Amino acid sequence: MTKSQAEIELKKLREEIERHNYAYYVLAEPMISDYEFDKLLERLLAIEKAFPDLVTPDSPSQRVGGAITKEFPTVQHKERMMSLSNTYSPDELREFVERVQKDLRAEGLGEPEFSCELKFDGVAVSLVYRNGLFVQGATRGDGSMGDDITPNLKTIPTIPLRAKESSNALARALLNAEFEVRGEVFMTKTDFAVLNAQSEKAFANPRNATAGTLKLQDSREVAKRKLAFTAYFLSSDALSDDVAHAERMNLLEELGFRVSQHRRVAKSLAEIEAFLSEWEKRRDDLPFEIDGAVIKVNSIRQQKALGATLKAPRWAIAYKFSARQAETKLLGVTFQVGRVGTITPVAELEPVFLAGSTISRSTLHNFDEIARLDLRIGDVVVLEKSGDVIPKVVRVVSEKRPADATPIELPTRCPSCDSPLVKPENEVNWYCPNEARCPAQIRGRILHYASRDAMDIENLGDAIVDQLLKERLIADAGDLYALEKSRLVDLERFGEKSAQNLLNAIEASKSRPLERLIFGLGIRHVGLATARTLARKFPSIERLASATLDELEQTEDIGDIIAKSVYDFFRNPLNISLLEKLKTAGVNMTGETFETIQNPRIAGKTFVFTGALEKFTREEAEREVEKRGGKASSSVSKKTDYLVTGSKAGSKLEKAKSLGVKILSEDEFLALLNS
Ligand SMILES: [Zn+2]
Repeated sequence: MTKSQAEIELKKLREEIERHNYAYYVLAEPMISDYEFDKLLERLLAIEKAFPDLVTPDSPSQRVGGAITKEFPTVQHKERMMSLSNTYSPDELREFVERVQKDLRAEGLGEPEFSCELKFDGVAVSLVYRNGLFVQGATRGDGSMGDDITPNLKTIPTIPLRAKESSNALARALLNAEFEVRGEVFMTKTDFAVLNAQSEKAFANPRNATAGTLKLQDSREVAKRKLAFTAYFLSSDALSDDVAHAERMNLLEELGFRVSQHRRVAKSLAEIEAFLSEWEKRRDDLPFEIDGAVIKVNSIRQQKALGATLKAPRWAIAYKFSARQAETKLLGVTFQVGRVGTITPVAELEPVFLAGSTISRSTLHNFDEIARLDLRIGDVVVLEKSGDVIPKVVRVVSEKRPADATPIELPTRCPSCDSPLVKPENEVNWYCPNEARCPAQIRGRILHYASRDAMDIENLGDAIVDQLLKERLIADAGDLYALEKSRLVDLERFGEKSAQNLLNAIEASKSRPLERLIFGLGIRHVGLATARTLARKFPSIERLASATLDELEQTEDIGDIIAKSVYDFFRNPLNISLLEKLKTAGVNMTGETFETIQNPRIAGKTFVFTGALEKFTREEAEREVEKRGGKASSSVSKKTDYLVTGSKAGSKLEKAKSLGVKILSEDEFLALLNS
């Protein structure tokens, strides 16, 4: 291929890829399969690799990331990025509307209209376009100066690298000038949940996850995190003040940006209130978090006349929905010992109803949190639930503190085994160091081993484990396989039948896949996703146990902390003895090599399952797909070809619909398997 041929080919490819990208992410109406899309992108990357000087700043290859930024340069915003004044109070909202109306009348500027928009709970950014090309993206920073994070923003598929061509006269004027778009970068609830499940350290909410991601130095990592962008501001010298805010939002859509569809122009306070009350009710139905709504004066001319205070514009207000809070009484604090010895304080509360469920306990995370809250027994506390996050105690209502409120005594010894607690340097948690003999840790490890995502031993719940431990029939999970029916039937609560059922369930656990065993061992920092990664790389427990630290660190998606934790685990005598018992019992310790079935309709396709299937377990269904050369994934993305839905399908269905993923019933899936 000559350079001029390459140039022509690249131009064609770029246009085609961006067209598909737009159809997929902005319109949610894909026109080609992911496979075909990936092929186009691969071809583009190959040609660009051969002709590196033909790479352009708006090439879709920029979305893959690759730029490493050690320190983000500071840039000046053309117009200050002010934050809005906000309120939770309907009275203050009314005052805002009345003040705006009064001020505008006094200036003879007529009656205002108000643009009502959802307030996305994300991170505000500013994007500058010159002659249609995205040239600079920055954080808000202090309002006048922000960090230039252009390479990271370029990886976000809903941020156009080049604005879309348009026949609209105003849009065309913008394409020949400079314009600034502002909006919110955010993460959907589903993508947030997936990220948290895969991360070593959990983020508190999607906003924190987004902020953390935008600050990553490696844009390739940002590209993996699935951020989205929604626009809510457009400014340019090419637009006259007669072009109102709502019209500007339509122009942004014309230029290929995603703008929230849930926007409305209201003419009165009553209409604004109707918008607010509708979305306060519907907020949980949205696939992303909002924390309220923004009300803006629609006319730019009127906006300018109203001006701004030192801190905020006088033409807009953020109305925050009340966080879902409830007051209740702290009855006591208990200290739980986790399976790795972590001591976790738990608030025991007077039961209270909050956002759909009754809460009587809430984790306090660690000892520092008790001090931070200045918590005492008998205190009235405020519980808050935001989004999908579990409820937490956010503060003490100090004016309601009873005279007899008592300080919380922090334990210095393990509540389970009385060992003196230790606190590793650089950690907030206290631990019980008695790994070998602490009953709470032993119990936690056995329950984890038997849990559904691990070895899935039915009938082995808390009460039975407690009983078996008390009778000294087991001391670790390995002993389960040596249980005898004659001993079980003598125990309280056990009959002939229940004893046999338990033994059958234990027997069945011997043939679980390798990844479930790795997860079930309870290695610190090794969740289900990590266990899967390890099982793919190391075909047996023996192989994993003998892996060098270096080999572990070289494994994709395994960081140094996990690698060290896995390495140490297999060198601990306690675990060596457990593994010996499991091996003797005949528990499966190797990865599967299964027969393959030719099925071109499944080969190369990615499947996600949701809800309860009737004819398969999730596991079996995934294996059937893999046997046919397909891939099973746990989360829906643009790479997903099929979503198979059982009963009670959840948020994945919603997401699949929005991405245009093909949806199959269990029967349709079965037909596809057998085709
Ligand atoms: Zn202990």
